Amino acid sequence: MQAQINGTAGLATLEPVQPLGWQAAAVGEYERTLPTRHADLRTQCAARILALTGRQISPVNIYTDGRLAVAGVDGATFRLYHSYLVLVRSSTYCGTGHFESPEIKDLADFGHALSAWHPLHEDCEDYSPEDLPDF
Ligand SMILES: [Zn+2]
Repeated sequence: MQAQINGTAGLATLEPVQPLGWQAAAVGEYERTLPTRHADLRTQCAARILALTGRQISPVNIYTDGRLAVAGVDGATFRLYHSYLVLVRSSTYCGTGHFESPEIKDLADFGHALSAWHPLHEDCEDYSPEDLPDF
């Protein structure tokens, strides 16, 4: 048996042309898990919407890019990022744009997103939907 000699010269030639191996590993993992992620997002999204609204959404009606799922129920749009669910609404003032609500964890959060939460553009900020008390 002969001992291997690993001097600095040997170390310097260790895969010098693949400095981005971590990128390839991450992208490979993403691509490998993509079909599962699509299916999981659709299943989770449908389950969350069913729990909040009582409406059954067919998985084929849920858009997903593998990171995010989007579905609509009776004019309400939901987005699910992994387990992070939000409601999407347009500006309370001008009726345009897409704003994401604070995270919806339960029915009360959902009720807040539907009622007390008032998404506004920066230019629409002078519109005050509630009369807040002065102190
Ligand atoms: Zn606006």
